[in-house]
Amino acid sequence: MNALVRETLQSLQETMRGCIQCGTCTASCPNAFAMDVSPRRMWRLLLLGLLDEVLSSRTFWFCSTCYTCTLRCPRGLPLTETIGALKRLAGQETSVGVDQNAAFYRTFLDNIHRYGRIQETDLMLRYFIAKRDVFLPLQYVPLGMKLMRKGKLHMPSTERRGKLDSLFNSVARLEDKT
Ligand code: SF4
Ligand code: SF4
Repeated sequence: MNALVRETLQSLQETMRGCIQCGTCTASCPNAFAMDVSPRRMWRLLLLGLLDEVLSSRTFWFCSTCYTCTLRCPRGLPLTETIGALKRLAGQETSVGVDQNAAFYRTFLDNIHRYGRIQETDLMLRYFIAKRDVFLPLQYVPLGMKLMRKGKLHMPSTERRGKLDSLFNSVARLEDKT
């Protein structure tokens, strides 16, 4: 663990020290059903210093930043911001487990940036390449067929290219400051 990661971990632990493990965050989270580690458990792992377990979980990649947990936490802890900080930490981490979980998130953002809106076919193609798993596309065949039948799959279009550049540039500037 390098000095920057250790420092960030200590600061996040300090922030989360007030957690009383009541589970309100997990019970309130609309995405908890898809997470492999519940938010309540993630805070516990974080406080125990088990950063590898936290960073190799899918939990924060499934967070949609809805702020419900933050609004409902009885201790008033900044949960959504802490999840964002963990996400940034995982983005800097290069271990295989973390990298695999981050693949979809990075591919998704790259897709939005590249086309100005989601382009499903290109997203999935690049995701499969990023995961380097030749059998992965097979798992998505039923979903792909379903989406195709409903007319939800579109071929890449460059119509909106560059439309979100200013938004991405602003976020990059904000991240550089933190
Ligand atoms: S709602 Fe707040 S106090 Fe309760 S488990 Fe979640 S973080 Fe901890
Ligand atoms: S901010 Fe994230 S973790 Fe919190 S309730 Fe919303 S989706 Fe769940």
